[in-house]
Amino acid sequence: MANNEESRGLKSLFDWFANRRKSGSTSLERQEREIADGLWHKCSECGVLTYTKDLRANQMVCVECGHHNRVDSDERIRQLIDNNTWKPLDEHLRPVDPLQFRDRKPYSDRLQEMQQKTGLSDAVKTGLGQINGLPVALGVMDFRFIGASMGSVVGEKLTRLIEQATQRRYPVIIVCTSGGARMQEGMLSLMQMAKISAALQRHRDARLLYVPVLTNPTTGGVTASFAMLGDIIIAEPKATIGFAGRRVIEQTLREKLPEDFQTAEDLLKHGFVDDIIPRTQLKNTLAQLIALHQPVLTPPSVVLWETMSLSSTVAE
Ligand SMILES: [Zn+2]
Repeated sequence: MANNEESRGLKSLFDWFANRRKSGSTSLERQEREIADGLWHKCSECGVLTYTKDLRANQMVCVECGHHNRVDSDERIRQLIDNNTWKPLDEHLRPVDPLQFRDRKPYSDRLQEMQQKTGLSDAVKTGLGQINGLPVALGVMDFRFIGASMGSVVGEKLTRLIEQATQRRYPVIIVCTSGGARMQEGMLSLMQMAKISAALQRHRDARLLYVPVLTNPTTGGVTASFAMLGDIIIAEPKATIGFAGRRVIEQTLREKLPEDFQTAEDLLKHGFVDDIIPRTQLKNTLAQLIALHQPVLTPPSVVLWETMSLSSTVAE
């Protein structure tokens, strides 16, 4: 009898925790839904209520505390690219399930579900457009699609984007966010790191500009490849940027890590990123960087000097 009561007590305590956890996650989901459809948005950092319209006008940055809310790829493209200049690339590319992978549910079902829910084919949008009148090749990762994990489609779309940019002599901007490689695609997902990095090297060999913008969170295989290969690396304020998660590192080192570990601010201090730019200034900063870099591409004096030194080598 006592045993029974004890187990009932334990069970109800367990239920209470389970419910609490459940209500915690739904309130977070609800908050995110409110951003999408609601009239008001409550800031998860400072708690201030803002008109969603005002928040959108401020590029989803809290007007009170400057907290950068997550934005999807469509919103990001709207924020960065001049009106009526966006030309999407490779929209037809769709992921397959080569390993017939199954975790809690089959990978193919998960893909279908995600595609229906987000309207995306996979976790990145790529295209050509203009930033303040300057042509760019832009890739934007979307965290809604399986945590913006990098599978074959993300890798292939970014590689094709970079190759187009090299051909057209365009700068490349990639707005990064990712939970890491897409484990459901196994080795094929890891290969994308090398493939994108090789395309970037050819872009660099052509003396073209590449700027990754690291947003919250940028982790795993993306950090271990193209997120860190920029000529100039920009991060958004307070973005989490890292390879392995804090818990894994703490368990391995058996040490408590500092509070600001893996934040954009800490990375800036240690030279891993070049600057932290608030979202409201991002477009103009990118335009300035591109404009500054543009004349360096083919100034007549350099061409002349190269021709001269080439002819002197031939003469020797
Ligand atoms: Zn706030």
